[in-house]
Amino acid sequence: MHTPLVVLGGGPGGYAAAFLAADEGLDVVLIESEPRLGGSCLLRGCIPSKALLHVARVISETRELTAEWGVEFTDPKISVDKVRARKDKVISNLSTGLKGLAKKRNVKVITGKGVFENSTTIRIEGTDPSIPEDRTVTFDYCIVATGSFPTMPPNFNIGSDRVMDSTGALALADIPETMLVIGGGYIGLEMGTVYANLGTKVSVVELTDGLLMGADRDLVKPLARHLDKLFGGRIFLNTKVGSIGLRGDKVEVAFEGPAKYGTEQYDRVLVSVGRRPNSRGFGLENTQVEVNQKGFIVCDRSQRTADPHILAIGDIAGEPMLAHKASHEAKVAVEVILGKNVVFDKQAIPAVVFTDPEIAWAGLTEDQAKREGRKVEIAIYPWAASGRAQAIGRLEGLTKWLIDPETERVLGCGIVGPGAGEMISEAALAIEMGCVVRDLTETIHPHPTLSETMMNAGETFFGTATEIY
Ligand code: FAD
Repeated sequence: MHTPLVVLGGGPGGYAAAFLAADEGLDVVLIESEPRLGGSCLLRGCIPSKALLHVARVISETRELTAEWGVEFTDPKISVDKVRARKDKVISNLSTGLKGLAKKRNVKVITGKGVFENSTTIRIEGTDPSIPEDRTVTFDYCIVATGSFPTMPPNFNIGSDRVMDSTGALALADIPETMLVIGGGYIGLEMGTVYANLGTKVSVVELTDGLLMGADRDLVKPLARHLDKLFGGRIFLNTKVGSIGLRGDKVEVAFEGPAKYGTEQYDRVLVSVGRRPNSRGFGLENTQVEVNQKGFIVCDRSQRTADPHILAIGDIAGEPMLAHKASHEAKVAVEVILGKNVVFDKQAIPAVVFTDPEIAWAGLTEDQAKREGRKVEIAIYPWAASGRAQAIGRLEGLTKWLIDPETERVLGCGIVGPGAGEMISEAALAIEMGCVVRDLTETIHPHPTLSETMMNAGETFFGTATEIY
């Protein structure tokens, strides 16, 4: 079989590329090794975690906020089977939807593992009857979107399902009494938030001296305070897990750090210490594609690899490993294949941590500005001064802009507070459009909303923030 375009991998990078190319009139073959489309994001990442986090948020709001406001709920009755079933239904609805969208566009989806034989031929392993008889597809172009997988250090891999990666944690086999999360990054904290709200006593251990090391410290502070309460003070910073072993039906963990922690036992352990690009075991070495030391495919700003027939997008193509970066790169790659002269200018890829409170940022961060020695003005608006934040009892938030003091252009934005993930899109647009602060302050924001803090923070740059209550 010959096709102008093969897309390898059916995650948010791969299916977006296949759909966009088909919309442009190209014949597309999409090869995905799993029986369902959606990739890590839909099947074991973004979507299941957010379905569970929504349940967690409803529980925490009823537990933490309402008693002092004159409304009290009794403790929630949690059916883990129903919580799991709802999450699985959300996944299957969306995955079925993707199948329909592929069919509507005449994208030929083949279930099987694609392996490069050379720069223009892929062999397909599997049992799908739609695999061609000679098991090969030749192509003019291939977009590689094979994603990433969770890192499991060999000394943590003790062959027990009590030691889980993020996929195991999302499976929600039970609500353990105790759980240790190894790694204070966004996946560990999101999953810790889910389990803690369902009733698990969660502890977090982190090697460095802070949570979420990619985010500005002033954004992390309110979250760290909230999590400290949620996890009963059991966040161990500057602490290393030395060894893990099974002791009866518990996992015994030895900490190397402040002596007081020593050895502890948990019902489950979640290892969330990062993700690795999936670049091995499918014949990239038979092409001219280059892979760097970290395992990412090396590509230019147009997603081209060193092989003229092959482009790469998504997690396999480098950091940040985020679904919306993958689908944006899909647009770039398809346009390049169509002969357009496009590059991906990574100005403002928004990042969101869906904890409570949420943290979101886009563009330049304060830490990055310091590291690069860039002169920026920082305009901050604390949510305690927001009428809406007062009304919902969430005063811990803040909104800040990073501004070029000479041109007054907005270079970056950081937000912490509930709904930060929804609010950050305004910042991404402002940065992409090259807005100056006046554009923010002259834009009428609806009252009373948390999004007003975007305007108010801009006003503080001129020393004129006017709150209306
Ligand atoms: P993937 O989604 O990993 O898809 C790759 C696909 O390729 C897979 O389906 C795989 O089966 C297939 N494949 C691999 N090799 C082959 C082969 N040889 N032949 C055929 N098929 C192959 N990102 C966000 O933006 N927001 C979030 O809230 C968020 N939450 C997350 C939560 C968790 C718990 C996790 C684990 C991740 C989360 N992510 C989130 C990250 C997000 O899932 C990834 O960035 C995104 O899925 C990357 O998309 P991709 O298309 O590059 O790869």
